[in-house]
Amino acid sequence: MVITIVLFPFPLQGHINSMLQLARILHSLGFNISIVHTQRNSPNPHNFPHFTFNSFPDGLLETEHASESDLLAFIMRLNVSCIVPFRDCLQKVSSNDSEDRVACLITDAVWYFSQAVADELKIPRIVLRCTSISSISAFSALSALREKGCLPIKDSEVDKAVPEVLPLKMKDLPVVHEKNPEDLQQILANTGRETRASAGLISNSSEELEGTKLAGAQEAIPIPFFVIGPFHKYFPASSSSLLVQDMSSISWLNKQKPESVIYVSLGSIASIDEAKFQEIAWGLANSEQPFLWVVRPGSICGSDWLEHLPSVFLEMLYGKGHIVKWAPQQEVLAHQAIGGFWTHCGWNSTLESICEGVPMICMPSFGDQKVNARYVSDFWRVGLHLEDKLERGEIERAIRRLMADPEGEAIRDRAVRLKDKVDQCFKEGGSSYRSLDSLTGFLSSL
Ligand code: UDP
Repeated sequence: MVITIVLFPFPLQGHINSMLQLARILHSLGFNISIVHTQRNSPNPHNFPHFTFNSFPDGLLETEHASESDLLAFIMRLNVSCIVPFRDCLQKVSSNDSEDRVACLITDAVWYFSQAVADELKIPRIVLRCTSISSISAFSALSALREKGCLPIKDSEVDKAVPEVLPLKMKDLPVVHEKNPEDLQQILANTGRETRASAGLISNSSEELEGTKLAGAQEAIPIPFFVIGPFHKYFPASSSSLLVQDMSSISWLNKQKPESVIYVSLGSIASIDEAKFQEIAWGLANSEQPFLWVVRPGSICGSDWLEHLPSVFLEMLYGKGHIVKWAPQQEVLAHQAIGGFWTHCGWNSTLESICEGVPMICMPSFGDQKVNARYVSDFWRVGLHLEDKLERGEIERAIRRLMADPEGEAIRDRAVRLKDKVDQCFKEGGSSYRSLDSLTGFLSSL
């Protein structure tokens, strides 16, 4: 009898990528894969012919989507509106499966409501954490810090180290600037409680990267941990992109010198204002370094795309810069022309860069991105942190430091060594290899 596993991704790009990569890993181990998902941000089933897909309407309006400023409200609303349609969908999937047994449900940690549904239908639930292990610890530390009166962060304390979660500073804590700060507390409390109530936790990280943080995170969440990442390394580039990836990125890179290009992308949610956009544009141009820049439509507040860039900027690029709406990021980072990644430090982007040995310039925006950025700059020391005001002169200097100075050379060496270290985790006896073995045994025993 084949064992079926139902996976339920959260409908945001980074979360969908991680869940579908996990699905591919489990499928390659012989499990049957059934994806239950919201109709919003639906993955393309044609790219995954071996999986079955079941969708349901999430009950929110088309106009209610996740933006940086109301992400938490979006998460909370979905955790209410999806209860009934998800339960109906899961019930249908588990009763359909007459020959094959539904062994368990794997949901994103953010779907905290799903634990009660899994309990009701008597299906064990395993949680996928799409963030780093360090971020789990940082999120867990927030409530104690709040009780100690350290939050909200005081202006005079932003650079103070946080002993509970070193090397983080107060300004790196994964708080989200929200209209309603209680929303974050509630989401963290719900996510923590329902994760502790689950049968296990799968992490898209590796002991080679975060082994020193694992014991602390397991103490906070005393359930079996399976640290089997980085997921995307098991297979060639994933095909779960919600936006069309502009392949001219690759043909343009093919014309550039090795390690000469800085790739710039702020992920699928972060947004910037018009003034910052102009500083980034002129900082890039003035650095005189070739660049590939992803400007996601909707990511600049108040404009559709490039209409506010002066025509003189576009004219002076002369092929030195290439701007696209969305890129095939994994292929871009693996390209020999790439010499650096200016990133918002989403966890997927951070892992994708580490796995290609590409050094980073970190410009985190909110949440766990700030934790990841500190680890990149101060713990693994494979990138520079744009700590100060986002200003064209600073940007130009940071790009030169990374791409042309001896300091950048040293960072690049460390990035290559870190990549080699992470490569070991998949080899026989490596940490992710062993953990995946335990996960296979665990899933088969359910
Ligand atoms: N991505 C992509 N093309 C782009 C920019 C990003 O395919 O032009 C992918 C990237 O490879 C990563 C995901 O989108 O897998 C972004 O996830 P991440 O966790 O880095 O950030 P988020 O978008 O969740 O903030």
